Amino acid sequence: MRIVLLGAPGSGKGTQSQRLVERARIPQISTGDLLRSAVAHGTELGRQAKEAMDAGRLVDDSLVLGMIRERLAHRDARKGFILDGFPRNLAQAHALERLLEGIGQPLDAVVQLEVDYGELVRRISGRRTCADCGRVFNLLTSPPPVGEGAACPKTAAPHRLIQRPDDNEATVAERLRVYDEKTRPLVDFYRARGLLHVINAEGSVDEVTRRLAQALGAPALAQRRAPASTVRKRPRAKRIVKAAHQRVRKPAKAKRTPGKAARTHRKSAAGSRPKARGKRR
Ligand code: AMP
Repeated sequence: MRIVLLGAPGSGKGTQSQRLVERARIPQISTGDLLRSAVAHGTELGRQAKEAMDAGRLVDDSLVLGMIRERLAHRDARKGFILDGFPRNLAQAHALERLLEGIGQPLDAVVQLEVDYGELVRRISGRRTCADCGRVFNLLTSPPPVGEGAACPKTAAPHRLIQRPDDNEATVAERLRVYDEKTRPLVDFYRARGLLHVINAEGSVDEVTRRLAQALGAPALAQRRAPASTVRKRPRAKRIVKAAHQRVRKPAKAKRTPGKAARTHRKSAAGSRPKARGKRR
């Protein structure tokens, strides 16, 4: 399934994408996440993107398109993907169309998540991200879970919540203005291609997931997958086998470690290394 999620900042694209990742087992490709990672790692791309991001403007098309081209070429994108935050303007939409036509993998659907302006601002103010696993929470609508199974999958400790620097009031206003001016026209672009579905993205996260699954013609995506413990059965079995191999291999390694007598012998037989090796074999 190749999908674009369209919607203003705070409309829940990230949250819904993460659910689709778990349920449809296809990757989420978020240009915002890729750019934030480039900034955090201090790459040249991050350096060039930072100023526009801090101001709430769009990053240069050439930088974003280069990044997306590279990401779509990854093996995991062959079985499908969810584009979150891309395309953001008509030039990007045309470029994406050409790119996907070129590899014979056109989009299956574009879903526009509609949320009222006041609600967007409210949601953005409550948005927090785990600094370790990147999962997005909302203190108002989807707070981090508590109790068993609530730990961060990366650290096994509670999620470390941070607020994005561009989620401040002034930048949010600019991002919403940019959305109306540059991104909203994509609704007509995709409607003209018969790909557009518009859903009401207000209400609980579960309700929105149900509407999204319905729009995609895949109501099963509204259901949670089997619990993580069942899903991890095979990899865990693999880890056990690997650990067993390591346990078997260790004593063999210990045997090869030369004892004191052998070390003394090797020191005295300087330059006769091949001979010593042959002897040990
Ligand atoms: P997001 O996380 O999608 O809200 O993106 C955060 C910021 O990254 C945006 O405000 C832009 O500055 C930049 N950005 C993300 N995606 C794009 C894109 N497709 N084109 C240009 N800039 C982008």
